[in-house]
Amino acid sequence: MNAPTVVAASPTSERGPLAGAIFDTLVHRIGKDEHAARPHDWLAATILTVRNEIIERWMVSTRAAHAAGAKRVYYLSLEFLIGRLLRDTLSNLLKTDEVADALSELGVMLAELEEIEPDAALGNGGLGRLAACFMESMASLDLPGYGYGIRYVNGMFRQRIDNGWQMELPETWLANGNPWEFERRESAYFIGFGGEVTGNEQGAVHWHPAEAVEAVAVDTPMVGWRGRRVNTLRLWTARAFDPIKLDAFNAGDFQGALADQLRAETLTRVLYPNDSTAAGQELRLRQEYFFSSASIQDIVRRHVQYFGDVRTLPDKAAIQLNDTHPAVSVAELMRLLIDHHELGFDEAWEITRATFGYTNHTLLPEALESWPLPLFERMLPRHMQLVYAINAKLLREARATNGIDDRAIAAISLIDEGGERRVRMANLAFAGSHSVNGVAALHTDLMKQTVFADLHRLYPTRINNKTNGITPRRWLQECNPALAALIREGVGDRFLDDATALSELAPLADDAGFRDRFAAVKRSNKVALAEHLRAEMGLRLDPNAIFDVQIKRIHEYKRQLLNLIETVALYDQIRSHPDRDWTPRVKLFAGKAASSYYNAKLVIKLANDVARRINADPAIGDLLKVAFVPNYNVSLAEKMVPAADLSEQISTAGMEASGTGNMKFALNGALTIGTLDGANVEIRDHVGADNIVIFGMTADEVAAKRSGGYDPRAVIEGSRELSQAINAISSGVFSPDDPYRYRDLMQGLYDHDWFMVAGDFDAYAAAQRDVDARWRDRDAWGRSAVLNVANMGWFSSDRTIAEYARDIWGVM
Ligand SMILES: *Cc1c(COP(=O)(O)O)cnc(C)c1O
Repeated sequence: MNAPTVVAASPTSERGPLAGAIFDTLVHRIGKDEHAARPHDWLAATILTVRNEIIERWMVSTRAAHAAGAKRVYYLSLEFLIGRLLRDTLSNLLKTDEVADALSELGVMLAELEEIEPDAALGNGGLGRLAACFMESMASLDLPGYGYGIRYVNGMFRQRIDNGWQMELPETWLANGNPWEFERRESAYFIGFGGEVTGNEQGAVHWHPAEAVEAVAVDTPMVGWRGRRVNTLRLWTARAFDPIKLDAFNAGDFQGALADQLRAETLTRVLYPNDSTAAGQELRLRQEYFFSSASIQDIVRRHVQYFGDVRTLPDKAAIQLNDTHPAVSVAELMRLLIDHHELGFDEAWEITRATFGYTNHTLLPEALESWPLPLFERMLPRHMQLVYAINAKLLREARATNGIDDRAIAAISLIDEGGERRVRMANLAFAGSHSVNGVAALHTDLMKQTVFADLHRLYPTRINNKTNGITPRRWLQECNPALAALIREGVGDRFLDDATALSELAPLADDAGFRDRFAAVKRSNKVALAEHLRAEMGLRLDPNAIFDVQIKRIHEYKRQLLNLIETVALYDQIRSHPDRDWTPRVKLFAGKAASSYYNAKLVIKLANDVARRINADPAIGDLLKVAFVPNYNVSLAEKMVPAADLSEQISTAGMEASGTGNMKFALNGALTIGTLDGANVEIRDHVGADNIVIFGMTADEVAAKRSGGYDPRAVIEGSRELSQAINAISSGVFSPDDPYRYRDLMQGLYDHDWFMVAGDFDAYAAAQRDVDARWRDRDAWGRSAVLNVANMGWFSSDRTIAEYARDIWGVM
């Protein structure tokens, strides 16, 4: 669709009403006729027309919640990885065919418009995609839910691969405007930073910020399944109070005149500014406070407007903190209740705790947010006072509890006193919430045993589990229409309302005719992906090979390196024994590395180096192909997931909190090769141990090895395949242009191997050969694939949201 479309528009008299409405929008809202319209103009005209339909339902949803005095759910998240909205919205409105027909009357293909819609780049990985699935499920379950986040102008970076290296380019998802959104100029809030506080805890307290910006709301409608309900995703954008300082401008200082506006806009430019510098760190904390304060002010304002009394807030509002990024909200609500609504500290604290819930997403120490105390105090002096006051109360409670000694007190404290003093955001979120949840059963157990062990002893009923889920609308119906149609033929379409109805497919696993049709769907998805990758990357892939896919952020704990080393070992084996009956494989990788994460970027380069060498080796032919697909995002996932035979979920046990990629693949009929980590454990329980390939150390074994003298050198030297593969990489076989490129990376495996790549290698390689053997038994493979789909219904985010609603939010 890059060239302007030549539209053979039908005469007005032959157009149906919807085609007429789209055409009318094109002319009157976009200001183009069919000759001048570019594809993006048609896209905008289509979205604006569909939006009209949504607006009425949106207002109905809002009015109904208001009239019923219903409790509302507020989901605060620094990320919403919503991806494209057109296909999702039409599908949920059951209007896909109607709109496709109307567009074809106008000579436009809906599918082509869907492909040029930009991905909303408002997230980085699983945490952001979870927030998006939750928004969809809340609307589908008819819960009044609001998402609150930041409207990043550039979001995450766009990844380009240059000579095998990751390049980071600005994401420009707003280049053609965003027809989905409504700017609410009237919903604007004052957000202060810095300055000083006068008064004291006994009297009235005044914070006099040194600096302030205005937060302006931008709303996007979130349409639930069957259009049942339309909720709001409210994203904040920053604006200077004085867009221009005229005196400076008139004095010729043009840049100075615009400096405030630039400083405000910087706040909502990018997600996760590189925080390896002090300035980057400060910007990140400013972002977190900016969106937390705007959201909490908005929630309190709405509550007081509807219900009059701020003290009933917990009866009418549940606020969920998606990880600790919005944890400063706890102090912000306290500030509003005490300084603006004049409640006493204890009453404010009761209300705050009854209102918040906190979801933990990681136990990795380096990922637990904490802020240098001097920075926190300088930027948020009033919040610092409140954190001290909360901490004093918390530690008083702790000291009054049996069995909590000084070591435990130090671990519970909101202030980390070891070395440079820091404010611990996870402890603040924990203390300020009535519910703290993990995102898979194993992760929740580990929370109790490790990071939160002492807080758990103090508040033994607070931690609970809510295993993540994914929406079956986007991740089955929309991304895999052929499979959805086959399922519908088999068991009807109730699975879209209640995904556990997929279990009715189970008997069809034994039906050879059904299995054949199931296999044909998978094959056609593989052909489509192969065609896409041929067009985008010039790759030639054999759709008869196993499509073995690892797509997710690049991180050492996710162990793309384990997969790559095994790929190199397999390559070696095929070359040494070309006459064996090898099972052809296509190894696909995709994912972004954080811009400051050197080893992750090196793993991307290694994937590309390995791919180049193997793909060019005539001795290998179609037996093994490797590709790194650039710029992983939701839309790419929607193409790759339906085409996968094998899903790689191979994190070091104990390190992946849940994973949701694992769920998408299994729901689309891929078999999982994985460790007993995160939600893999529960996936095994649901699909059955015979229909998943589990390998490697358990979380307990990893922990025991780490404390009990793990000797990776001995492990490597004890495995011929592993040591050969490591030596090949280390000695430059895949990087002849720079033979030492991977020496340090490989040396790290000998020296410490924190992620136990060597420790799990032999088990992983054996599991891969088990996969080969299963693949050759086409009936058994097909049976397992069908049983995966049939048993994944429990992993619907509808189930997850229903659990949050019942156990945490009290709204169902
Ligand atoms: C589902 C999804 C993720 C999460 O994947 P994991 O394998 O669970 O890490 C990340 N990014 C995108 C674009 C996704 O769709």
